[in-house]
Amino acid sequence: MEKRIKEILALEPGEDTIKAEGWVRTKRDSKNVSFIEINDGSCLKGLQAVLDRSSFSDELISKLTTGCSVSVTGKIVKSEGGNQDVELRAENVEIIGECPADYPLQKKRHTVEFLREKAYLRPRTNLFGAVTRVRNTMAYAVHSFFQENGFVYVNTPLISASDCEGAGAQFQVTTLDLENVPKTPDGKVDYSKDFFGKLANLTVSGQLEGETYALAMKNIYTFGPTFRAENSNTTRHLAEFWMIEPEMAFCTLEGDMDCAEKFLKYIFKAVLDKNSEDMEFFNKFVLPGVIESLEHVITSPFEHMTYTEAIKHLEKNNDKFEFPVSWGVEIQTEHERYLTEEIAKRPVIVTDYPKDIKAFYMKMNEDGKTVRAMDVLAPRLGEIIGGSEREYRYDVLLDRMKELGLDPAAYWWYLDLRKYGSVPHAGFGLGFERAVRYVTGIENIRDVIPYPRYVKSCEY
Ligand code: ATP
Ligand code: MN
Repeated sequence: MEKRIKEILALEPGEDTIKAEGWVRTKRDSKNVSFIEINDGSCLKGLQAVLDRSSFSDELISKLTTGCSVSVTGKIVKSEGGNQDVELRAENVEIIGECPADYPLQKKRHTVEFLREKAYLRPRTNLFGAVTRVRNTMAYAVHSFFQENGFVYVNTPLISASDCEGAGAQFQVTTLDLENVPKTPDGKVDYSKDFFGKLANLTVSGQLEGETYALAMKNIYTFGPTFRAENSNTTRHLAEFWMIEPEMAFCTLEGDMDCAEKFLKYIFKAVLDKNSEDMEFFNKFVLPGVIESLEHVITSPFEHMTYTEAIKHLEKNNDKFEFPVSWGVEIQTEHERYLTEEIAKRPVIVTDYPKDIKAFYMKMNEDGKTVRAMDVLAPRLGEIIGGSEREYRYDVLLDRMKELGLDPAAYWWYLDLRKYGSVPHAGFGLGFERAVRYVTGIENIRDVIPYPRYVKSCEY
């Protein structure tokens, strides 16, 4: 394989002939020489190639425009300009694909909104190149963290007949003719005629199926797409996003919290170690202080407090909030931030939430009022991870489902799992794009995934 530009930039000047392939970012002409900057996505910085104009035709020089693809060979020499250590003295320049003047990415800085419309070209910008590299590092770190710790990667189904959150924000999967929907005698949609013979949806979480594998493999994780038909036009919600969901058997909430803390620190550290150039870019142009805030998370032991304690802290400051709190209410982002930024001054894990604001599968505490849930809160963001110990007692789970009006028959296998060798188990979920957004400091979640899907938008 040819050398990537990242490797070429690390070379010493020498007599070897080096080939660089990539896309021209900029060109500067002077009387005797032309400079082009070539980028191939391997790093933020481009390689400067210097063309002696007496050796190349004017036609070639004029066709070297922003956006064209080139293959340049030459020798690495010490650069005379101040911006780089070395440059490529071009001996042969081949334009592979020309790029006309209507190329949408011109030298000026474009807005993220503009770039979203040009999503097929945006990875060629500094910003999206950096996001793409950081996302890649984080995905790799997710796998290496779990693999190094003995977790088995499990692929849970994307098409599902169960609704994990019971929230109803699901996309339906059907091959029924929507112009002519088959009906049962009592006028309902006849799903027996549908592809699966029953109502099916895209999954909102792989957790329930993940639990079944944890109760065989002990420690598992999923890392795959999830779908939510949420009508929320926010900078935090996508209709299609990637989720990481570890699940551990013979494990209670303590082990779960420990895993979540180590996991977050591991993936953040991976980015600081491997993408320092990209992180400096984000620190300078996207969110000043972002590097420091990641370092702070990595080096601080996370604070632990129960929901009840958190509410006590917050109630004393109710005058500062748009939505004042009291025991039983949802803790919102403003409160979460206050807890981490003002009260603890480090990440906080809040546990033991009221059962009424959490999902049916969470383990009931002795008090009958709270469940063994945890949310990991991070400064400048609020919730970054949500998890819990699961209810592993058959009778307690069944009662809870009935209490919430869930149909036990629809969850038969999930209940039966509690009959056959049940054991305490716990896990958590991390929305991958939320994590990438946090690490890069990028404001809108739509800019940390290649092709964002959200309400009224499914371009490309
Ligand atoms: P929120 O209150 O922000 O909508 P949630 O409580 O619905 O989040 P969970 O159901 O706990 O979230 O999902 C697990 C994780 O998946 C969340 O912590 C978050 O990181 C991520 N997540 C949830 N919904 C979305 C979404 N629409 N787009 C991107 N990530 C999401
Ligand atoms: Mn939600």
